[in-house]
Amino acid sequence: MSVGDGFLEMGTVATSINANTFQFFTRNPRGGSVKPINTDDILNLNDYMKEMGFAKVVAHAPFIMNLAAKEESKREYAINVLTDDIMRMELLPDNYYNLHPGAHTGQGAEVGIEKIADALNRVIYEEMTTTVLLETMTGKGSEIGGTFEELRQIYDKVHLKDKVGFCLDTCHIFDGGYDIVNDLEGVLSEFDRVIGLDKLKAIHLNDSMNVLGSKKDRHAKIGEGNIGLEALVKVITHPSLKDLPFVLETPNDVEGYAAEIKLLRGICNG
Ligand code: FE
Ligand code: FE
Ligand code: ZN
Repeated sequence: MSVGDGFLEMGTVATSINANTFQFFTRNPRGGSVKPINTDDILNLNDYMKEMGFAKVVAHAPFIMNLAAKEESKREYAINVLTDDIMRMELLPDNYYNLHPGAHTGQGAEVGIEKIADALNRVIYEEMTTTVLLETMTGKGSEIGGTFEELRQIYDKVHLKDKVGFCLDTCHIFDGGYDIVNDLEGVLSEFDRVIGLDKLKAIHLNDSMNVLGSKKDRHAKIGEGNIGLEALVKVITHPSLKDLPFVLETPNDVEGYAAEIKLLRGICNG
């Protein structure tokens, strides 16, 4: 769903397909343009979510936002987007703002990690209620966050640590070489050892069009990719994960999401 649908409408659409959370883009995911804030609409969504007992929802930063950008103007732009988006998220308190950490574009991972952490330190503030989530990436190109270690290195440099958590994308980590099909336990204990499962706040539940370690990042519908339904069900029912918000980012329209939610809820309750 996109923010163009209106905030309250995103909530009612979620309810209509038996969801109690959702993810939305704060602005055009590829262009970065943003609609003026309709404060009433956001406040109405906030009331609606409370009334309906929603779990925390996830806002997703635009893909073009690169906190590690080499060009200072691009990096300043990214920092401004982050600042502005968090300000908007504070109208919907206590939820999540998920971002792709960034791409170092030839500067090297070390410089990229430093720039990302510095940007977060410039924007994050003590009184904010929003938690910023760093998403696990495939590591394609010069993308940072393709390993748990890189994500941990960013976190280590962040000052206000309780404002930062992580979002695990099943397609991304599978494409990044973490074998959640044959060794979910091993992958989760690795995550726990390197980052800490207590810092994992949300899951992007996606199948993958590509194979383990392919570093491609092409999401597939649930059960139609190389991760498969059985492995994804193990993810959603895992004792360490089952209470987290799960967000589908599969290539679907609303009816497609409704069908996947029905399928997954059916298996979990059956
Ligand atoms: Fe993402
Ligand atoms: Fe994702
Ligand atoms: Zn992806």
